[in-house]
Amino acid sequence: MSNFYETMLNNKLGRKLLKGVGLPTPIELRRYDPSQPRFFAGNILLGASLNAQLLDDTLRNLSASHANVYFPANAQSASLILKTADKHGIKAVGIECSKDMSQKFDALLFDGSGLNDATDLNQLYTFFNPVMRKLNNNGRVILMGRPPLEVKTGEQAAAMRALEGFSRSIAKEIGKKSATAQALYVANKAEANMDSALRFLLSAKSAYVDGQVIHVRPADVIEYPDWHKPLQGKVALVTGAARGIGEAIARTLARDGATVLGLDIPPAEVDLKRVMSDIQGQMLLADIASPDAPALIANTLKEMGGADIIVHNAGITRDKTLANMPEHWWQMTIDINLAAEERINHVLFNDNILNPNSRIICVSSMNGIAGQVGQTNYAASKAGVIGYVQYMGPKLLKKGITINAVAPGFIETAMTDAIPFMTREVGRRLNSLSQGGKPVDVAETIAFFANPASSGVSGNVVRVCGQSLVGA
Ligand code: NAD
Repeated sequence: MSNFYETMLNNKLGRKLLKGVGLPTPIELRRYDPSQPRFFAGNILLGASLNAQLLDDTLRNLSASHANVYFPANAQSASLILKTADKHGIKAVGIECSKDMSQKFDALLFDGSGLNDATDLNQLYTFFNPVMRKLNNNGRVILMGRPPLEVKTGEQAAAMRALEGFSRSIAKEIGKKSATAQALYVANKAEANMDSALRFLLSAKSAYVDGQVIHVRPADVIEYPDWHKPLQGKVALVTGAARGIGEAIARTLARDGATVLGLDIPPAEVDLKRVMSDIQGQMLLADIASPDAPALIANTLKEMGGADIIVHNAGITRDKTLANMPEHWWQMTIDINLAAEERINHVLFNDNILNPNSRIICVSSMNGIAGQVGQTNYAASKAGVIGYVQYMGPKLLKKGITINAVAPGFIETAMTDAIPFMTREVGRRLNSLSQGGKPVDVAETIAFFANPASSGVSGNVVRVCGQSLVGA
């Protein structure tokens, strides 16, 4: 806990003072703990719409966790839940859900794939209303459904899209408990591809991901690897790995078993060396925007046996209002943050450097979605990253490659520590979780995209922002 606000929170008088001036006191987010053997442990209340189609694979996943599964005993889907749980060796317990019940839950999971129209949305109210106050701190709410644009009728599309608005609103209501809510859309025939997304969202690894939507598409099914070493045997390139978010990405991918090639500019040599020697990685000093960088990267990765994971993290800001911005600031920001990534990918594709089932992950930004004064260059580059990922996502998926982006919000780094106190406190707490994220939160989301089992996750943009009110 490094900042003034957190120091205040840590003593009784400080908390009283903060409360007195109306500042929320956030509950510390529970993050990944290697001593927890499975992705989830605790009580889950499972609900399902009539004719729900994702229960089988949901319960298959829960059978790999330490979840105690409950379901509303009087729900119309109760017998289906019981039967499917039984099939997966889970002793699901029917429970009378009421506002007076003493039972608490660590996750509320609802399979809404069977919702057909607006009248069916009542099933959401019936499931969630009695139990909204029964969610523990750091709890999880997940709404599952079919992609709205891939269903058979307009009414069904409306019901599916409703899941998104519903989950985003729940996220805002439970944020004060440091609990999160998301929507997970699983396409037809992609049921067996949902494992990595469901496990990530239920786990502590998604601590600062809130109010997000993830799409899973049909792809070759790759069995979920070891929870603690999912990237064992993989080679990963991380650009901008010497410090900040890039350093956290390199450390997290290495923690998960990958061999990391960390790249940064020559002036960052000392820091890059420190990080790479800590994680037994390899280092490459290069400016990603230089003309020879793509070939240099491709050759180095070739010598390492090809690449499985490419993380385009290196980025810069050159902030000035457009009227005052020198042209070279415009050009270098677009070039480093966007064009260099495209040029590198071109060479990686053309020279066949990417191994089968490889993963590309780009780092966008919340400001690329919302826009920001003084950041026309930066926001254009980061929005460009989103356009690239959304276009390439489905196309690369046909070749067994996935591409996704993370869009970080307020992440505690040396950069944000330097922001003046009041501006920083506002930026830090203008989100549903009332706190800033950590570089590791961005890294965990990147590791989820990089997971071999994320074979059907492509073209997604996930904000790691605690459901920031900016650009929401
Ligand atoms: P940072 O400035 O701390 O680190 C960026 C790293 O990239 C540095 O090590 C730098 O030397 C390297 N780099 C810059 N230009 C390079 C080039 N041409 N070639 C090779 N390496 C280069 O920044 P950070 O806060 O860790 O941000 C990392 C990424 O996350 C960036 O893309 C940034 O735009 C994005 N981001 C950060 C935040 C945040 O809150 N920190 C929010 C949104 C998005």
